[in-house]
Formats: sequence, C-alpha cells, structure tokens
Amino acid sequence: MKEVLLLKYGELALKGLNRGYFEKLLKRELETRLKLAGSFKVTLAQSTIYVEPQDDDCDIDEALRLCRKVFGITTVARAAVAEKDIEDIKRVAKEYLPAYLRGHASFKADARRSDKKFPLKSPEISRLVGGAVLEAMPYLKVDLHNPSVIVMTEIREENAYIHAGSFPGAGGMPNGSNGKGLLLLSGGIDSPVAGFMMAKRGVTLEAVHFESYPYTSEQARDKVIRLAEIVSEYCGKIKIHVISLTHIQEVLRDSVDEEYFTLLLRRSMMRLAERVADRNYCQALITGEAVGQVASQTMQALTVTDAVVNRPVFRPCIGMDKEEIIAISRRIETFETSILPFEDCCTVFTPKHPKTRPDIEKVILQEQKYDHEALENEAFDSLYTVEADAYSEV
Ligand code: ATP
Ligand code: MG
Repeated sequence: MKEVLLLKYGELALKGLNRGYFEKLLKRELETRLKLAGSFKVTLAQSTIYVEPQDDDCDIDEALRLCRKVFGITTVARAAVAEKDIEDIKRVAKEYLPAYLRGHASFKADARRSDKKFPLKSPEISRLVGGAVLEAMPYLKVDLHNPSVIVMTEIREENAYIHAGSFPGAGGMPNGSNGKGLLLLSGGIDSPVAGFMMAKRGVTLEAVHFESYPYTSEQARDKVIRLAEIVSEYCGKIKIHVISLTHIQEVLRDSVDEEYFTLLLRRSMMRLAERVADRNYCQALITGEAVGQVASQTMQALTVTDAVVNRPVFRPCIGMDKEEIIAISRRIETFETSILPFEDCCTVFTPKHPKTRPDIEKVILQEQKYDHEALENEAFDSLYTVEADAYSEV
C-alpha cells in the first residue's frame, strides 16, 4: 500500500509575512534532510506539503522522524493513498487503518474535501469510511464528542488520503528566516536549550565555546560538539568557535579578589563572544541564563555582564525553572549528554563566595588590576572552528 506524509505548517505564524519565501525555505530544508531516508518527492499544494517516497528503498519511519524536527512544520500525518473513488477509499481504510487504531477504544470519522468536484460531500464520506472501519474492527465505538482517535479522509487534487491522526511537528518558524545569532554554548543543560529555542524562531545558530585546557579536558570539548550535533538535527549545521580562556583564568586567579572572579570572567566571555559575532555577522548573543539560578545570574550580575556588549543578549530561559529547562532538554534529547560529568571552564577556580549583588564600580576597579584587553586579544588568537552537523552524510 502506498503511503505518504502530509505536513501542515503554521499558517498563523506566516500570515502577513512573505509566505512564498517561507515555503521555499521549508521545501529546501525538507529535501536536504529527507535524503537520509531515501528518495522522496516534496511538493506543496493548498497549505499542505506532500512527502512521497519514490521507490521501495525509502524509509518512511525515518522520514516521519526527520520531518518532525523541521521548524515551521506543525503536524505530520502518515497517510495511505487511495483512488478518488469511494469504493477504493473504503477498501484502503479497511486495510490500512486497523494497525493504527489498535489499542483505541473509540473513534470518529471526519473528512475534508478540497476537490469540490468529488461527488460526495464530507459528512457522507465520513459516514461511509466510518462504516468501513467498523466492518474491519467491529468492537470500536463511535464517539463524536470525545473520540480517542480521529480517522481523517482528505479528498485532494490527485488522490484521496486516509490517516488516523497526526503527530505534532517542531513548530516555530523555518530555519534561516530570522537572522543569525551566536550561542554561548557550554556543556551544561541550559545553553543547548536556549539555542534550540532561538533556532525554533528561525534564527540560524553559530556557537562559541570557551575551554580551559588542560583544566578542562578534550572530552569536555567533544561533549559540546555532540550537544551542538543534537541541536543541529533541528536547525542544521552549527559552526562552533572554540576559544581558550586558560590564561585569563590563571591571571584572574592570581590578581583579583576571589569573589569577583566569575563576574570578571563572564565579562571577558561576553566581550570575546561579541568579537566572534562581529566577525561572523551574528546579530545577537544567546545564553542559557535564568534569573537567580546561580550567583552570576542575579539581576545585578547580569547587568554587570551585559554592560560590556552592545548587541542584544537573548536569554530564552530567563524566566524558567530548572525543571522546565530540563523538560525541554529531555524532549530535544540533549539532557543525557549534558549531564555527563566533565569540567566546564566556569567550574575551574570558582570562588566559594561569589558576589551576588555586585556593584559595577567595584567590578571595574577589580578589572583594572590586570590588562583584560591584552589577555582577550591573546585568547581571541587561540580561536579555532569546528562544525557540528547531524546531516553531514547528506
Ligand atoms: P549551562 O547549563 O548552559 O552551562 P549554567 O546554569 O551552568 O548554564 P553558567 O555556567 O553560569 O550557568 O553559564 C551561564 C551561561 O553562560 C550558559 O548558559 C552559557 O550560555 C554561557 N557559558 C557558560 N560557560 C560557557 C562556556 N564554557 N562556553 C561558552 N558559553 C558558556
Ligand atoms: Mg554551566
């Protein structure tokens, strides 16, 4: 039996915007990714994207999984194809649906007829398909108000399509539709989630990672690359610029009051990130900070770190509880990697009692104890770039 995927995209989100442009982005994204699952044809008609296998080697399960990770897609249905003939529709419904209805107690049959020339109207189609389902699975109950599954028949231009409900897609806006942001990516739980959330709004991601070799290990860096790779399943290739903070951290340890260590380090991170953003045309910085989560994330501390950059700093986790951030990280599958126990540069030489309500003048006085500019220049020279791309085999 021939199966296709029917994808819907968030029309509300696209309203008033350049719809054709968004559709083109979506189509291109799907075509690139679906190559991993075989040869598929992607076409757009009447606000639906059709994904059709072109030969028997196509892996439709994998195609479904891949489509659900494309931003801009709101639902994905796996459907059987029937002739535009009610007898064939009933035959396909009887043959195809039982596998998907097993385990459900009740259903409702619904129909949509975008081809108005089809001789039967939607209520009639629903009634006949519902009857066919009951013939195949007589124990199922019809429940029009609270069915556990909806059987849908869609009569379209070329064919009729029958499915038993759809899966949620990734939502959001198509990749590349909203500029480019630079994600400060650590190996923690929060920053991959922050990157995911901005990417979901169509922002292309590039990343900067600060390491502190030999205080941090190569495994810690590889973990960050792995995290970016997982996020790239949604947003495509992520370039990661890696910068060494080792020398800055050693100088800070030896020259400033301990309680200011983290704040001063974060100011250097932000300045360096802005330089990376400048060079790579990123319009904003993105971090995984949330108000009050740690000492460096109080309002006052965030003010002190923000003061050194001119770009907007997007912090999509800012108002979230850790539990909420963890729930997202589990859903996008970064969690298990994030909790692998490797040192991050932020955990090297951390003070026992960091300042939680820093006063900016005092911070600046501390910063004058060493030449932050020279150290940052040196750090910037250490930059090297790697790529994380879940679709690199394509
Ligand atoms: P995360 O779970 O994202 O590491 P966190 O709660 O551990 O966050 P911090 O370690 O204080 O908080 O870091 C705050 C933010 O600063 C991170 O979300 C990330 O955006 C950025 N950041 C921290 N460490 C690094 C690093 N080594 N490289 C790049 N960015 C970093
Ligand atoms: Mg961290």
